[in-house]
Amino acid sequence: MEFEQRFHSEQACLEYIVNLRWPDGFRCPRCGSQKSWVTGRKLYHCAQCEYETSVTAGTIFQDTRKPLQLWFRAIWHIVSQKNGVSAMGLQRVLGFQRYETIWIWLHKLRTAMVRPGRDRLSGTVEVDEIYVGGERSGKRGRGAAGKSLVLIAVEDKGTHIGRIRLRRVANASAASLAPAIGGSVEPGSIVRTDGWSGYGQLPSTDYQHIVVRPSADVGENLLPLVNRVAALLKRWLQGTHQGAVRASHLDYYLDEYTFRFNRRTSQSRGKLFFRLVQQAVSVAPVRACDIRGGKIEP
Ligand SMILES: [Zn+2]
Repeated sequence: MEFEQRFHSEQACLEYIVNLRWPDGFRCPRCGSQKSWVTGRKLYHCAQCEYETSVTAGTIFQDTRKPLQLWFRAIWHIVSQKNGVSAMGLQRVLGFQRYETIWIWLHKLRTAMVRPGRDRLSGTVEVDEIYVGGERSGKRGRGAAGKSLVLIAVEDKGTHIGRIRLRRVANASAASLAPAIGGSVEPGSIVRTDGWSGYGQLPSTDYQHIVVRPSADVGENLLPLVNRVAALLKRWLQGTHQGAVRASHLDYYLDEYTFRFNRRTSQSRGKLFFRLVQQAVSVAPVRACDIRGGKIEP
């Protein structure tokens, strides 16, 4: 109800984006001037350099032929569903004719779920890699066609799990794992892994590395936080997406899962909505043909 009232018109959606994009008023993307007027075609005309731009140019919504209201409704639905939504589910809700259109929307929005230059994890961080996809998920060494190796990093907050980072890696060698950890974990942190040799070359100037070895205390469950996140991730891929995630598209799904997991305790859908639209106007637009791995789902 509140959502429908707030975004009752195309103009209301536009104003919402204007405020997110230019919180201190319009600024010309070309010359930086703050003087402008709005033309009859709703374009911002720079008074200094005559450049014309729309409020959606350079955002996810650039060149869309559908109303912003429909985009907003899609985003609202995406953030409302605790476990996310499949393209087919969203197609039903919005009444779209073409599955492909909504599939592309979802992928565009997933690119907005990861903030550019986001913070790395810090404190004590548990790290491991798992295979995702294919017939059977499992541990290293049992790799097979159709599976992707994903590095999972989880903040250990003592009483609870903090934030996570997920990254696809080429293999479990030190050459793959060390940079993935570097991109996910802040220097100065404690990194906890098992005794796998791929973790043996972490720079000791950056991290305090703790190796957990099998013992009576931990048994087989050396890294309980990573195992828990891995189980939830697999369940999500199986449940919400019925496992129909192509390996070449996995990065997008990992981004969505990270977005959802790191905000799992947020009670406010309004806040999630705000965050996603805010990021959608701050990341570069993606053309359908640029979606990595091809645009049609199997
Ligand atoms: Zn200008």
